[in-house]
Amino acid sequence: MQEPSKPSSQHAVLRKLPAIHRLAALLDNVDGTVACRVARDCLSAVRRDLLSGEAAEVPSLHELAWQCRTLLDQGLKPSLQRVINGTGILLHTGLGRAPIHPEAVESARRAMTGYANLEIDLKTMARGERQSHLLPLLRRLSGSEDALVVNNNAAAALLVLATLCSGREAILSRGELVEIGGGFRIPEVMRQSGAILREVGTTNRTHLSDYKEAIGGKTGLLCKVHRSNFDLVGHVAEVSIEQLARLGKRTGIPVYFDAGSASVTRLHSLEPTLEDLANSGIDLVSLSGDKSLGGPQAGIILGRRKLLEQLRTHPLARAFRIGKGTVSTLEKTLALYQAGRAEEIPVVAMARATEEELRERGARITAGDFGEIRIRPVPSVAHLGGGSAPQATFPSVALALEHARFGPDALKHRLATAATPILGRIHENRLLLDLRTVLPPEDALIRQTLLTVGLGK
Ligand SMILES: *Cc1c(COP(=O)(O)O)cnc(C)c1O
Repeated sequence: MQEPSKPSSQHAVLRKLPAIHRLAALLDNVDGTVACRVARDCLSAVRRDLLSGEAAEVPSLHELAWQCRTLLDQGLKPSLQRVINGTGILLHTGLGRAPIHPEAVESARRAMTGYANLEIDLKTMARGERQSHLLPLLRRLSGSEDALVVNNNAAAALLVLATLCSGREAILSRGELVEIGGGFRIPEVMRQSGAILREVGTTNRTHLSDYKEAIGGKTGLLCKVHRSNFDLVGHVAEVSIEQLARLGKRTGIPVYFDAGSASVTRLHSLEPTLEDLANSGIDLVSLSGDKSLGGPQAGIILGRRKLLEQLRTHPLARAFRIGKGTVSTLEKTLALYQAGRAEEIPVVAMARATEEELRERGARITAGDFGEIRIRPVPSVAHLGGGSAPQATFPSVALALEHARFGPDALKHRLATAATPILGRIHENRLLLDLRTVLPPEDALIRQTLLTVGLGK
């Protein structure tokens, strides 16, 4: 351990470092192996400081044990925490997109804390299919012939392209060669899938004739991708999914639409419903489970049985398969839609709240004296977000906060590091908490936190 070139005084100090097992023995309520690892890490840090001259003395055993405890406690407080979303973005990817209905979480808890009939048919005791728990609900809610659920919509797109278009051409408009976010770039997904991208039209205008002219012996798929996070305005033209579906029928080429989001009950007038998509005549459509349904992260593929059969047997379908938690959470979320309880789903409730309701909640949160914080309700604009459509906005109400001593950035930081973090956005030098994305049971927590910060408690 000790290097002979070190001066002897340093050797003398290093020899005072306790043995790992002596320090580890002082730590209780911790697994033995973890205790030794933490003690070793702590002692190596001290040794480093002594050798670099940053420290001159070996801390007492008591002090070292306290340092170990601090390291251990960092691991105890969950890193992933509940936060309050005052950003006004309903499907905020950074905040985990959709809050899940408590009954859906409860279903998953029951399924996950014990065994579950994930792939067993209880009537026949034969080997079943995990998708079978979701299929009837998805078919009834969407009107589609068949469905397959994978890990997320990015996986869905890759699976569709790899299964139906590997080594063949996928025809896509230049206006839809998009990057969705988080590195999901359509041309790269195509390359990974083995599909050959055949671009048609121009950035701003693509016509049905562009697709027609590109069709040839190598065509595997006619594709359309929802632009999701940007708009084309001005001199623009695009081909609708209905037009593309008709062209597919005439030519016998399957048509795939990466819709990103589409709801059961319209969240926003700009969004299609699952029913609209099924009625469009398109062969395959994929969407995000969280963006579209306010459910768990998932990629939902809807469409023709003949094509979905092919997708199911591709090796990537196995690689992208969902776990029992997702099956259960999604099944219950879909069941709530089927039971006509859509308005209970948190993102649906948020989208439908009236400005009057938001104003009343704001008045209840802010009644009384908040000391150094001045609060005023102001009109605001909330966004559906999650790459739905940039124009998908809702008139909303926000609490505008100003602190007597802190600037907006400091106040933002203070709230983001509160016991239950509250996230807002700064607009015109004030911190805004948009109430549309706050779950009503969180109102009391916001009030309490603002009282604590404002009155310096
Ligand atoms: C969001 C989105 C995706 C990616 O979906 P994830 O579920 O996040 O993987 C792909 N395509 C479109 C059009 C999207 O809007």
